[in-house]
Amino acid sequence: MAPAARRRYQEGWLRELVALGWAKAPGVRRRMEAARLGPNDLSSLESLARLPVIKKSQMPDLQKADPPFGGFCTVPMKQIRKIFVSPGPIFEPLGPELGAWHAETGLYAGGFRPGDVVINTFLYHLVPAAHEIDEALNLIGCTVVPTGVGNTETQVVVARAVQATGYVGTPSFLMTILKKAEEMGLGRLPFEVAQVGAEALPESLRRQFEEEYGIFTRQGFGTADIGLVAYECVEKSGMHLVEDAIVQVCDPQTGEPLPDGQIGEIVATVNHRTYPMIRFGTGDLTVIDHSKCPCGRTSARMLGWRGRADEVTKVRGMFIHPRQVDEVVARVAGVSRYQVVVSRQDHQDVLTFRVELAEGVEAAGIATKLEAAIREVMKLRGRVEVVPRGSIPEAAKKVADERKWD
Ligand SMILES: [Zn+2]
Repeated sequence: MAPAARRRYQEGWLRELVALGWAKAPGVRRRMEAARLGPNDLSSLESLARLPVIKKSQMPDLQKADPPFGGFCTVPMKQIRKIFVSPGPIFEPLGPELGAWHAETGLYAGGFRPGDVVINTFLYHLVPAAHEIDEALNLIGCTVVPTGVGNTETQVVVARAVQATGYVGTPSFLMTILKKAEEMGLGRLPFEVAQVGAEALPESLRRQFEEEYGIFTRQGFGTADIGLVAYECVEKSGMHLVEDAIVQVCDPQTGEPLPDGQIGEIVATVNHRTYPMIRFGTGDLTVIDHSKCPCGRTSARMLGWRGRADEVTKVRGMFIHPRQVDEVVARVAGVSRYQVVVSRQDHQDVLTFRVELAEGVEAAGIATKLEAAIREVMKLRGRVEVVPRGSIPEAAKKVADERKWD
């Protein structure tokens, strides 16, 4: 989709979704009325920011006040196919429409094709992921074996018996199954493609799946509330946003959209007719990249998951996260222990990187390299302080906020 066509498409469904929520979902209407907005006030991508973000952490209370869905469901109970229960508890309806999670786009980009036979090892109790992914696989034309969690030997036996070409589940469990097959003397399983999630996928593990086992391995990003909003393509350089989600990266405190390239909270509006989540704050952090992807897709990409919004510290107007601190240090060899201290001097925030150096490492040059890495990763100027080994306590917070406000 060209950018103009994408905007037309997204603003088209946004207007319908808002109108539907206003008419059928009292919870949506209450939020809009509280912000003094009518059904015609949220018709463009920019105008969306006028509606305050609804935080995931608010959902349990909102639902308790108007059970079971907090007034966010647009259809009567008799049209609900399933009710999922996520920790909180938060209840999510699965309504009449197929593919409400938009997972098929990501699965297809991840290599799943009609005729694939797929074992789905995600959890089937209470939570939506396994069920929604099954539906998406069916929409593509795949056959699903709902094997669920655990029972490693059964997984191996089943995967061989049905000649499973696809795997869905956590990356660590995929490795467990592959090893189990070898241990049972059955050799290689017939998997060709895997969609993994619910935990981090280290590049070393992905390389092992792809090079040793020949399994094309991709991942996506989603939550129980909003479905799958981003997925990796063949390039695996970030995750493309789906056209049925409007993802804004926002200031976790004010909900204001941030300029491109800044780290912020993922706030999603999803084209889900049964359960319209409009400006839903996931509490997860990311950075969005609008540069062109060599795969040919024109959609923007989420550059990975950057932690939780409740762990961020705001420094001179920019958010910093413990994972960025790790990223800075990873770019410079020779640092053994480190901590960022945020302080105030003459009413200015000061960012200090305290580092201990590994044995035999010369301090000269390291500070300059670290300062450059801080500028690149955090978009901030920071100063570097080399401290004697043992000065940073083992249990020290990675980002220590020592600012005093009076
Ligand atoms: Zn791409």
